[in-house]
Amino acid sequence: MQSGTTRYEKRRPNPSALIPKWNYTACTQCNQCVAVCPHAVIRPFIVTRDEADNAPSPSTFVTVKAQGAELAGKRYTLQISPLDCTGCTACVEACPEAPKALEMQDVENVLSTGGEDNWTYAMSLPERGTLIDKYTLKGGSMNIK
Ligand code: SF4
Ligand code: SF4
Repeated sequence: MQSGTTRYEKRRPNPSALIPKWNYTACTQCNQCVAVCPHAVIRPFIVTRDEADNAPSPSTFVTVKAQGAELAGKRYTLQISPLDCTGCTACVEACPEAPKALEMQDVENVLSTGGEDNWTYAMSLPERGTLIDKYTLKGGSMNIK
């Protein structure tokens, strides 16, 4: 039996009218939101500058300088799969920042600005788990597919 087939089961119309939006200016890249998501919908990715520039929707594929000595010269992005999110808000609740680095927004806005293409593109990037200790909360979820 092939495993992991739920990745092909996209939901449209989306089960929730609202999904998280990443406020990158408030984010500390702790990845706690990633750990609590029950559907692995929100994930962090380490990308190069070239990869960021080559995203299908570069204006909405936001990246910031990756924090941590192991990730020097790399970029960090938090991506959300618009067609898989149930809108449960667990990730928003888990974000320890004040103000929160996640807030709920209209899923149609995300889809009309390249959100689904950005997710697909991020999932196509190489795994970079060897750059950071995978037995940490932060490292265990980097570029995992
Ligand atoms: S709202 Fe729920 S399903 Fe959607 S990304 Fe956050 S934790 Fe995951
Ligand atoms: S929990 Fe908040 S601060 Fe931590 S990675 Fe997620 S959005 Fe960023």
